[in-house]
Amino acid sequence: MRVLISGGAGFIGSHLAEAYLENGDEVYIIDDLSTGSLDNIAHLKTKSAYQKRLFVHIDTILNRDILMELVGTCDVVHHLAAAVGVEFILDHPMESITTNIQGTEIVLELCNKFKKRVLIASTSEVYGKHTHAPLVETDNIIYGPSSKFRWSYAASKLMDEFMALAYFRTTGLNVTVARLFNTVGPRQTGAYGMVIPRLVGQALRNEPLTVYGDGKQTRTFTYVRDVVWAFMRLVENPEAFGQVFNIGGVEEISIGDLAKRIITVSGSSSTIQFIPYDKAFGKDFEDMQRRVPGIEKVRKLIGFDPKTHLDAILTKVISYMRNRTDIV
Ligand code: UDP
Repeated sequence: MRVLISGGAGFIGSHLAEAYLENGDEVYIIDDLSTGSLDNIAHLKTKSAYQKRLFVHIDTILNRDILMELVGTCDVVHHLAAAVGVEFILDHPMESITTNIQGTEIVLELCNKFKKRVLIASTSEVYGKHTHAPLVETDNIIYGPSSKFRWSYAASKLMDEFMALAYFRTTGLNVTVARLFNTVGPRQTGAYGMVIPRLVGQALRNEPLTVYGDGKQTRTFTYVRDVVWAFMRLVENPEAFGQVFNIGGVEEISIGDLAKRIITVSGSSSTIQFIPYDKAFGKDFEDMQRRVPGIEKVRKLIGFDPKTHLDAILTKVISYMRNRTDIV
């Protein structure tokens, strides 16, 4: 099978590419390296068993001509190319909206033209400011005002979901939407604010761990290969077409406790430093206080059962980052 992965040089995309290559499939990557990196796929490009099955195009998904060629060539498309990470969105507000809305529009249009199965990676950000748990796919959404730019990410990804579902309804496109909760693992960078690589890097350097707010906000964390497992099944399953699925972990933890776990598991001598949100992000920022997925829907359809627990995830990330001195 030929698989196109937009954003394939990114953190999740590179793991997805690796899983398909392990399977014996041909993988086509398109990535503009805005937050992705050739480093993420260097080990795949140099492996002799993969060399004839991996094709990498450094380009933007806004380049319709190249995308048309790639979608036409492949059997299945995973669309992961997007502006991601709260800090990145706040730093690049215009570019983020264009990539997320126009880019997805082109991907969907071409998948529809060539009748290709496609999975659209969305985000738990679309739920907005809920504090109840778990969040289920049919929940209402609550956003802050448009003056608070964090919500532009949620709104743009929600628009992507609407476009995907509209194609399914009007033309029968085989499209599935996956709402990702915090996904973590080796190769994720802390450069755009993601908490685990950020805090692990600080712990390994024995610097204070920067916990924003009072550290009582909670998240669950999913290991990237568990997410990849779900993507590969969802894109093939006819019962998933036209549907939205949460994909996330089940262990809820506060960021304050996460920082303590990272210090313990890494054996660091770091302390924890609490930083007010306005110092970290400026006054326009609002954090989500709680984010826990309901995963019954995806569990029922494909048996999703994220098996990699937080300590195991932290051990993998710490060991990866210990061997990389250049990581932020
Ligand atoms: N966070 C933190 N310190 C950091 C980076 C992030 O305390 O150096 C917090 C952030 O405010 C949020 C949580 O960790 O409450 C998860 O942040 P991340 O950006 O990884 O993902 P989000 O869930 O916000 O999309």
